[in-house]
Amino acid sequence: MTRKGLLGLACLALAMGTSSFGAERDYHSYANVDQFRVTHLELNLRVETWRKTIVGVAALELKRVDPRATQIVLDTKDLMILDVTQKATDVVGATGKNQTFWVSRPFYLGKEDPILGRALVIELPPSRRTTETIKIDYETLPDSHALQWLTGKQTARHKDFLYTESEPIGARTWIPLQDTPQVRATYKAQVHTERGMRAVMSAENDPTAKPNGDYTFVMPQPVPSYLIALAVGDLEFLQTGPRTGVYAEKSILKAAAKEFADTESMIQANEKMFGPYRWARYDILVMPPSFPQGGMENPRLTFITPTVVVGDKSLVSVTAHELAHSWAGNLVGNATWRDVWLNEGFTDYMESRIMSAVYGDERASMEAVLGLKSLRADLAKLKPADQVLAIDLRDRDPGEVFSEVPYEKGRLFLNYLDSKFGRERFDAFLRGYFDHFAFKSITTEEFLAYLQENLLDRFPGVVTLDQVHAWVFSPGLPADAVLPVTAMFQPVDESRDAWLLGKPLPKQMGMGWAAQQWMYFLGQMPPTLSSSQLADLDKNFGFTKSPNAEIAHSWFKLVIANQYQPAYGRLEEYLTTIGRRKLIAPLYEGLMKTAPGAVVAKRVFAKARPGYHPETVKAIEAIVEPKEEASE
Ligand SMILES: [Zn+2]
Repeated sequence: MTRKGLLGLACLALAMGTSSFGAERDYHSYANVDQFRVTHLELNLRVETWRKTIVGVAALELKRVDPRATQIVLDTKDLMILDVTQKATDVVGATGKNQTFWVSRPFYLGKEDPILGRALVIELPPSRRTTETIKIDYETLPDSHALQWLTGKQTARHKDFLYTESEPIGARTWIPLQDTPQVRATYKAQVHTERGMRAVMSAENDPTAKPNGDYTFVMPQPVPSYLIALAVGDLEFLQTGPRTGVYAEKSILKAAAKEFADTESMIQANEKMFGPYRWARYDILVMPPSFPQGGMENPRLTFITPTVVVGDKSLVSVTAHELAHSWAGNLVGNATWRDVWLNEGFTDYMESRIMSAVYGDERASMEAVLGLKSLRADLAKLKPADQVLAIDLRDRDPGEVFSEVPYEKGRLFLNYLDSKFGRERFDAFLRGYFDHFAFKSITTEEFLAYLQENLLDRFPGVVTLDQVHAWVFSPGLPADAVLPVTAMFQPVDESRDAWLLGKPLPKQMGMGWAAQQWMYFLGQMPPTLSSSQLADLDKNFGFTKSPNAEIAHSWFKLVIANQYQPAYGRLEEYLTTIGRRKLIAPLYEGLMKTAPGAVVAKRVFAKARPGYHPETVKAIEAIVEPKEEASE
């Protein structure tokens, strides 16, 4: 997914040891994967919008790893478990024919953990069979963490909308399963909705399916649980290429299809560099504005924030990012959340390569420099243990510890290898890596062993293992990091400096500037500006009314820091219509720095809250109503 902004670290910084820890073990799952492994899921889901509930039956096909095992342990959170049965076959009666039936099995839910939820422990008799099938009848609770139920008021078409956000450990809040990325399973699903609503999943979707309320999905490739996704809404479809298209509510469908028209070119660019796209179709689902992420790489169906539909393709790097996940993450992914840099760092690197190939080096270099600036800002705030790529997340919520480190530091690590070994060798290495580990989840250590064998040892004397370890296990940036540069920001610096010295804004200033140049123009302003300076900028460039959510975000930061009242009306509208965490959390943080700002933050949050995703509510609550003052 795209970065969420740096949040929640303070309240989740629980006691941590400094000793090394098992690289294989997933500290965020109860599943006993050394005894049973889920290989396939059959879901039957009835979406009951009026009571914000999914009534589900999940049949789990299991590989029995340990014949002596007598329990299977699954992950759940906010689930009501109604019944558990096991598939059994027996020779029945005089006919001597095999008959299949379902046998009830005893189960219990373990103690609730605020981060992990509750283990579902199911008793199974020991068996020599290599596979088992169990079936769980369950219901979700209305405040299930991974589900957002939007009422008509909160969507463009005034129809209800439901979507899931399973990464990192949200799948267990709508399906009882082994919620660890180590386990990959194929799935099939039948979804029942109100007539007129369309359901889509991270699977084979049929855009021609009639919206009659019954939908069938097949995901033939094994995916980790965090990539199981569902959305239900008043969705229409528009084809944008031979294997690409857009699902969206009608009001934004055409604009989105235009914005994402280059998706096929992006796929081809990436295929040329890193090998075939292996997921058949690549469609984009445009989410309601409350979607907390920029994008989520659900296979075959990326979920994307509508805040990147600007009209000029200026923010489509989010699409390049999610598409790159079709290789990094979805095809070869992290085995535990400690290894998430294998997803995000590789993806950021590939995003840059795609942007270069499709939109040119200048665009990619500006985005890379802006990324480095965000990374530096995060590094300045993070304690050393959280500046390493292979981060220790024990006792912490992996959904709350996303920073720029796995993304931008990961990207810089790959840039470093790229520059040291040369593009030809490095691209061949990455292609080989994706082939070798295709449809597998790996640890940092497995990657390092592969890297040593296939790059460091193959071309000796270029990079040492110690240098690699410094990138992966040490805080900060190594001194020999290869940092991105761009010439595109020089005229921007000159214009800003001249204006700050009191020179009038030249008429031509900003003509033809890219969105990234405007973001940099505003982002590098001194923190204190006068009201007349802000008024001068706004009069000339109309920042308050900017249709570009990123430029508006940079502007509102200045507006808040300097309490520039004329823009507060639009700021409030922005905060109440957008739920993307990366865009709104820093604005709430800025408001909370002053007493009058805190009053605005609390009032606006109270108004905006019903429209935010539960995850966003939690994050903004931590900013606006810090724990010691929380009323609940
Ligand atoms: Zn990502």
